[in-house]
Amino acid sequence: MSEIWQPLIANLAVVALFSSIWSLASDWLDRQRWIIRKLCIGLLVGSAAVSTMLLTVEIVPGVVYDLRTCVVAVGAFFSGPVVAIIAIVMAGAFRLLEGGAGVGLGFFHLVMAALVGLGVRAAGRSPLPNPFWIVFLAAAMALLLLFMVFILTRFVSMEEARELIVPGTVLTLLATLMMGFTILATRRAGYDRSILRAALAQAPEFLYVKDTDGRFLTVNEAVAHHHGYAEPVEMMGKTDFDITGHTRAQDLHEQERAIMESRTPLLDFEEEVIDKSGQKRWYKTSKVPLSGKDGRIVGLAGMTVDTTAVKNLERELTESRDRLSLAMSEMSDGLALFDREGYLVFCNDQYRDAFPRSAHVRVPGKHIREILLECARAGEQLGIPENDIEGWAERVGSLLRVPNVVTVELFNGSYLQLRNQPASNDSAVVIVTDVTDLKLAERALIEANADLSRQASTDALTGLANRRVFDEVLERDMARCGRAGTPLSLVLLDVDRFKHYNDVHGHQAGDRCLIMVANAIKSSLLRPSDLAARYGGEEFAIILPDTNRAGAEAVAERIRNAIAEASTCELGSEVTASLGVAEYDLSRAPTTPESLVRRADGALYSAKAGGRNRVMAAAGE
Ligand code: GH3
Ligand code: MG
Ligand code: MG
Repeated sequence: MSEIWQPLIANLAVVALFSSIWSLASDWLDRQRWIIRKLCIGLLVGSAAVSTMLLTVEIVPGVVYDLRTCVVAVGAFFSGPVVAIIAIVMAGAFRLLEGGAGVGLGFFHLVMAALVGLGVRAAGRSPLPNPFWIVFLAAAMALLLLFMVFILTRFVSMEEARELIVPGTVLTLLATLMMGFTILATRRAGYDRSILRAALAQAPEFLYVKDTDGRFLTVNEAVAHHHGYAEPVEMMGKTDFDITGHTRAQDLHEQERAIMESRTPLLDFEEEVIDKSGQKRWYKTSKVPLSGKDGRIVGLAGMTVDTTAVKNLERELTESRDRLSLAMSEMSDGLALFDREGYLVFCNDQYRDAFPRSAHVRVPGKHIREILLECARAGEQLGIPENDIEGWAERVGSLLRVPNVVTVELFNGSYLQLRNQPASNDSAVVIVTDVTDLKLAERALIEANADLSRQASTDALTGLANRRVFDEVLERDMARCGRAGTPLSLVLLDVDRFKHYNDVHGHQAGDRCLIMVANAIKSSLLRPSDLAARYGGEEFAIILPDTNRAGAEAVAERIRNAIAEASTCELGSEVTASLGVAEYDLSRAPTTPESLVRRADGALYSAKAGGRNRVMAAAGE
């Protein structure tokens, strides 16, 4: 029995040998171009297959076995169809040269093995196959062997082929697993290494390892390119003295010597360096001392990052933050920022100062509702509905992110304009402007306007309507009474011998007398629709709508008496007035306001001529 097992184990040894060669060469193979790599592996796998064929074992007379199919299947599994074809061609050619029976069946077995390898490869496709697929491959190969035994016994009537089942299956499983796992392990290590190497080589950071004398042992592409070298290898053996100014190189040398001597790493060391073009650049460096297996320091590994962009960004950020806070503190308006939930995130002092009674709750972290409730509780803002403070706070708070402008009055008489503005990320900006001066000015303006319009319609001395108003009202009332068919009368009044009064008592007394006359007229008019106006100098006019001549004469008489009475009481000397009455005669239309005034003036003239201190009515024409 050992005669069989010995060559079988020799077969296994050949497989192991070729697996080792493949493993050893894998690093080199990985660096080759695709086609070269495939050709080399193909030749290797083919050679392994041929080598096992040289050690073919005759299990029983006429039944031979070797591990060529396992080698081809594993080659196909790991390296694909090109490798499988090369290996099949080599093994097939060798088999043909050998000659003898069973060439066709042997070739068929080889092709099937390659197909099994490719099939499992397709099923477990990944840069690094899962170990499961290797076990699967081994099992598939064992099944393939059993299938071949079945064909031999069934169709070739080679009953002795059964003897192949035990050793063949064991060897197939062993060889496939051994070769598969060896190559997988190599692949794994190579894969890890190549990933790591690629990462280090292409990392944007400057990575380097130096020996104790400061000579570069290895650098990555970033370092090489930074110093003007095409390949990292060109920097090997160089020192900082070869690539930078003497002073800087000396500084670095001392720094690194200190790191290695003290065995203390240098971490995140920041420095500003002027580069070759005279530009300031910032670098952050970490260097760790490296010790060998015996504990001796053998050099150091370093990593340097160009942080210029970050530094510039940091500086710009600081500057813009400073500018912003300066603007915030210098602006006259109060400014507050609320987040989407309604919590105060930021506010300037002016915002707090604008609300003296609730300033203590206007701090970041407080909710708008809380602030509003405190504002209401402290009686800071006027006009808050006392019976529904909660509802008010809810309403106002919900308006935070709705653009709106409101002006509120505070307890201390100041007015604040609050402008809500939604900001990005759903927050809200509130700008508070003290508009007290504006409000007061507005109020003064409104009052001044009212004054002006009063002045424009009243006589300054007597407070009666002025001539302009008289003209307007007369025209309007005449038109109205004309349409309604109701009467209207006009009374003109002239103070008697007023020139003399002025001369005797002085002008100021004359003015007081006119005020007295105006008051007497006012007190004599009972209907709101009656209008008394100062017509000019010491002349007055009274429009009496819905009043006929007789009524007007009665009113005029009342006025005349009131003047006489008041003058005696108030001025101590009797002042009289003459009055002329004219009725707007509808039957004589069209009568103009001017003609009515003219007729009243005529009646007044008659009263004067008739001895003054009397009422005369214009006769109907
Ligand atoms: P007569 O009885 O004929 O009306 O005599 P009179 O002196 O009143 O004569 P006339 O109507 O011509 O005189 C008007 C005078 O009234 C002139 C002026 O001295 C005086 N007068 C007019 N307007 C004012 C006024 O606003 N203030 C004062 N103090 N006097 C006025
Ligand atoms: Mg007069
Ligand atoms: Mg007069």
